[in-house]
Amino acid sequence: MRVEKLNPDWQWTRYQKVTATRDNFITSNEQKYWPGLDGETLHRRLSRAYDDQRIRQIKIVDIVSNWLSEFGVLSGGIDEFNEHGFIQEAGHVWWMIQVFNVLRSYEYYGAVGLDPAAIDSTDALTLMLNVPNPRRIKGADSNFPPYEWATRPALEAKASLTENVINQNFQASERNLSIKSATWQITYLDLLEVLAITIRKKLNDNVKLDFESLNSKEITHTETQSETAPLREFSFLNVPRDANGIRTQPKISIEEQATPLGYGYKIDAVLCPKDLLAYIWLLVAEEFTEIPNVDFVNCKGFADCGNTLKRARSRPCKHCQKSVYSVTSYQSSDLSQTDDLINQAVPVHLQREEWGDSENSTIQGVTVLVHKDDDGRETDLCTKSPDELHEQETSKKEWCNPTCRSKNT
Ligand SMILES: [Zn+2]
Ligand SMILES: [Zn+2]
Repeated sequence: MRVEKLNPDWQWTRYQKVTATRDNFITSNEQKYWPGLDGETLHRRLSRAYDDQRIRQIKIVDIVSNWLSEFGVLSGGIDEFNEHGFIQEAGHVWWMIQVFNVLRSYEYYGAVGLDPAAIDSTDALTLMLNVPNPRRIKGADSNFPPYEWATRPALEAKASLTENVINQNFQASERNLSIKSATWQITYLDLLEVLAITIRKKLNDNVKLDFESLNSKEITHTETQSETAPLREFSFLNVPRDANGIRTQPKISIEEQATPLGYGYKIDAVLCPKDLLAYIWLLVAEEFTEIPNVDFVNCKGFADCGNTLKRARSRPCKHCQKSVYSVTSYQSSDLSQTDDLINQAVPVHLQREEWGDSENSTIQGVTVLVHKDDDGRETDLCTKSPDELHEQETSKKEWCNPTCRSKNT
């Protein structure tokens, strides 16, 4: 079974005019939009909103006003909107994204990115990862499972572990974590579990299964096209969609209403999120299943829109056609200097060897494209490229959406 498609007709409301007053936000000019179209990486955009507030010190009213005009409320009605609730939800998503970044960039036996399928079950128990301390997320409390896990009481030496295990398993995940600690040490296995529990909790009761159907008022426009028949009478009719996946509106004159349209019918199960927050957590769930095979690059209009684009991690080199992916090197000494991991927007990497060099020297913060040979060895040298370095084909999609493109060109 494989039902995991977002209802392409699912819409949400944003506000073209947002004014912040002392007590609340006044919005007008409601506009329906398709989050599936304009917000394919909206979970990362929400995580950035949290960074904007915590790290870039942008005023909360500015962040929130911008968000409401671009994407609307996360859940509930605009009247109940509360900026602190918004930042709290953004912080939860932010934490998940930071952990995904750690998982995607962790080096394991020479391969970058922790591929669940490649990890030995013994390693999963003992592999310790450093992730941001969930106690430090603004407004987080024990309703957020990572917070709850990190603050569990310390294990008593003899409690709950069998005699045989206790000696091998001394590297258990940290408990009773202090807020002073920038990071939380957790085993890979516990981390996967707490990620899954969190996603499940956020999606529970907030997504329902439906059938893709034309039974939708938004697309009928009977007021403006009085000569056409309302489409809601044609459930399951397979009306063509445009390049963006939006249904094209067939015009049916009054005289022709009795005539068959000539379209076929289609029955397709789709997921309907209850609200924008549920949609964002569906994106989080999707990224969780894609680790470590995806990367995120900035949209060309990133300075303005803050959106990222999802790419397959491995793509062909335009010179040698071999499949290449990017890796970034950091010196381990960089990490000891930045004791406040929570303030880092970039993924943290372990020390790694410089590619293409027989000496084990390390370099700092450099991103290169590498190809993995059949024998598992990675190299950044390209035999067909003029400068001897691989280069990926420029992706066709460089803008997050057509509006962003027209605003910035
Ligand atoms: Zn190449
Ligand atoms: Zn953009």
